[in-house]
Amino acid sequence: MANPTPTRLAILGSTGSIGASTLDVVAHHSERFEVSVLVGGRRMERLAEQVRALRPRAVAVAEEEGARELREMLAGERDTPRIFVGAEGACEALEVGEPDCVMAAIVGAAGLLPTLAAVEKGLRVGLANKEALVVAGELMTDAAAKSGATLLPVDSEHNAVHQCLRAAHESELARIVLTASGGPFRGRSRAELEGVTRREALDHPTWDMGPKITIDSATLMNKGLEVIEAHWLFGLAPREIDVVVHPQSIVHSMVEFLDGSVVAQLGHPDMRHTIQYALTWPERIEAPLRRLRLAEVGSLDFEEPDKEAFPCLELAYLALEAGGDAPARLNAANEVAVQAFLDGEIAFLDIARLCEGVLSRESTGDASSLDALLQADADARRDAAALAQDLARAR
Ligand code: NAD
Ligand code: MG
Repeated sequence: MANPTPTRLAILGSTGSIGASTLDVVAHHSERFEVSVLVGGRRMERLAEQVRALRPRAVAVAEEEGARELREMLAGERDTPRIFVGAEGACEALEVGEPDCVMAAIVGAAGLLPTLAAVEKGLRVGLANKEALVVAGELMTDAAAKSGATLLPVDSEHNAVHQCLRAAHESELARIVLTASGGPFRGRSRAELEGVTRREALDHPTWDMGPKITIDSATLMNKGLEVIEAHWLFGLAPREIDVVVHPQSIVHSMVEFLDGSVVAQLGHPDMRHTIQYALTWPERIEAPLRRLRLAEVGSLDFEEPDKEAFPCLELAYLALEAGGDAPARLNAANEVAVQAFLDGEIAFLDIARLCEGVLSRESTGDASSLDALLQADADARRDAAALAQDLARAR
């Protein structure tokens, strides 16, 4: 069925991996979508190309220097967009672009302000930026309830759960089982993770993603963040959200109902499936993607996660159970730790040590306002940076 008026779309994080996949979906269904806002952090050349191809009304970039570069690249061209700077600039771009739908795909807590702004406006929000929900789950879900915004999970596991829940009422839900590929180090002991390199950690077996989430997948922090994300999206208690390792990444997740029946969602690992689902729900439309033929896949394996080798998963459960600002502090510590590992400053196993160190610090616990959460985030980043220095010196 053709859509008479195209959906006006804002893409936060358009120059990243999810951003590129979103633009691919949009290009395939160009009659359905019009891109009115683009937001990117770095890679101004890529952003300039996107501006030329899509002619958005407004653009925002992370820093003033990027904005200057972008203005220079677009100088003298026709229909250039208004260019804004920073997280507040991204919110202004949403005002100017007046989108119907926002793809929230900035990486990290940096995406929180514009994602929350989209939710407060009552828009349809495709949520890839899981860190926003980890940091401010309660604020975000309260804001959605108040504004009438629809939060559609793009993360493949939560998107799978969303699809599975179409088979029943949410009140019939007993348990969620999130699948995890296990990352590049599945099967290794803690001792065997000593000294693994950045290059090995970035070599994900099944998904092609940005660097931060790829490292999170190697530590299993990604699954931990997803447990917190699932709690806010689907309202289950922490221990009603289970994780099973499934190396083929074909079963994207499952739900168990009160009568013990389990419904799963399957497909090849390609984020364009979940992005299109979020952009077109409740409709399902044709997609030019590889079809699943189970005989070609052969076998599907499942195993328990190794909590000793990958302690980040349990840290996330503990943060969720502690509540308050603990998930925000864990997320901030992890962002600092992952960057320090990518910069060659700390070892792979130090990521979990650093997160545990920050989580065990005293804090106000206050998560009642955005300001309190931003303060918790800033304090945890400061503590994490100091710990990273200690760990780097000890190497
Ligand atoms: P990426 O690193 O490829 O892209 C991140 C995007 O955010 C880029 O456009 C970058 O320029 C932008 N950005 C970063 N900081 C910014 C800032 N301060 N202001 C404005 N823009 C900024 O990351 P990705 O893999 O596309 O992941 C994006 C989000 O989606 C993450 O939260 C990730 O956890 C989630 N996610 C990704 C995948 C995947 O397959 N890539 C799957 C599930 C969930
Ligand atoms: Mg995921």
